[in-house]
Amino acid sequence: MIKHKLETICLHYGEIDDLVYKGAISPLYMSTSYGFSGVEQKRYPRYSNNPNQEGLGKKIAALEGGEKGLIFGSGMAAISTCLFSHLNKGDHIVFYNDLYGGTRNLIKAEFDKYGISYSFSKSSKISDFKKCIKNNTKGIYIESPSNPLLKIVDMKAISDLAKSKKIWTMIDNTFASPINQNPILFGIDIVIHSATKYLGGHSDICAGAVVSSKKHMEKIYNLSKSLGGSLSDFSAWMLERSIKTLPIRVREQNKNAIKIAEFLKNHELVSNVYYPGLPTHEDYKIAKKQMNGFGGMLSFEIDSKLNPLIFFDNLKIIKPVMSLAGIESTVNYPKLTSHSSLTKDERKNQGISDQLIRFSSGIESFSDLKDDIENALKITKNES
Ligand SMILES: *Cc1c(COP(=O)(O)O)cnc(C)c1O
Repeated sequence: MIKHKLETICLHYGEIDDLVYKGAISPLYMSTSYGFSGVEQKRYPRYSNNPNQEGLGKKIAALEGGEKGLIFGSGMAAISTCLFSHLNKGDHIVFYNDLYGGTRNLIKAEFDKYGISYSFSKSSKISDFKKCIKNNTKGIYIESPSNPLLKIVDMKAISDLAKSKKIWTMIDNTFASPINQNPILFGIDIVIHSATKYLGGHSDICAGAVVSSKKHMEKIYNLSKSLGGSLSDFSAWMLERSIKTLPIRVREQNKNAIKIAEFLKNHELVSNVYYPGLPTHEDYKIAKKQMNGFGGMLSFEIDSKLNPLIFFDNLKIIKPVMSLAGIESTVNYPKLTSHSSLTKDERKNQGISDQLIRFSSGIESFSDLKDDIENALKITKNES
């Protein structure tokens, strides 16, 4: 088959031809029951092989450059299924310390009970990962860029380390999206997305996705049928539609993010900006090596005399919300949301101060976003 370009893959891969009416887009099949005669694999929504689910899996696999893709009802359904399909009683796994809160909760709440042990690499340095590897270590799990400080892990170095130890690697690629980063090219085995974020992109779908080789996907697929975290046909159809505009959305978000990062960096009321696209970011060189774009996420600290809550209250366009990656710009306060279960000291150890604000770039005009931030900072200064 001809290898098409990314934009074409987003539009057309995995499309279902409407053979009856010749409609321009994939028809939506909501049936939970299909005929069984002459079909090898029986179709059933929990098996994620209904027409819309199957088509979407193919699209995402092509986007990440992997052999097979599977979609899930949430990012956490994807993450938990990947982990539990690849770990047995007595196994050990190494996690990067900067993890999505839900993933950390899963590990803390469930792993002991199944006899799975784990270590957290305290930094993104390869030597720190190496120190965590034991005789019974089966894999390494990373996030890059990470939440909320946008730290970068060197994917090639991690995959080289894992290959030398004959263990597998998984990455949560949510923050980058397949437009900005394709980990399989760097040797990572299993790529996971919370499709609730960039793949969906309009803050109206909860979904997850995994892409890997046939060998790994077989284990993941088999467990997915038992755990049952499949995506509804309707959401699959919505997500197919969303992905058609993924490249143009994400590139606009990248562009806004770098401009916002530069604007904030030069602002007298902002003390720190964390964006992997700024040459001053500690991991800029690695980011440049492995990313096609630096992403739409950044975070920053406002002056210690300013009250972040007043800042949120005075934004007119940018919405303070929990989630991220929609086409609308949003802000989030890690202290009260993603990292609220940690003590102040624990947060401090992870570099998350009470002044830290996470920003998710949308596709609004940059000058309107800039004015909104400028205005809210000014009011915050006067009222703090
Ligand atoms: C949101 C998120 C998840 C979890 O995805 P859900 O779709 O909410 O289950 C996992 N990892 C990262 C980095 C996320 O941002």
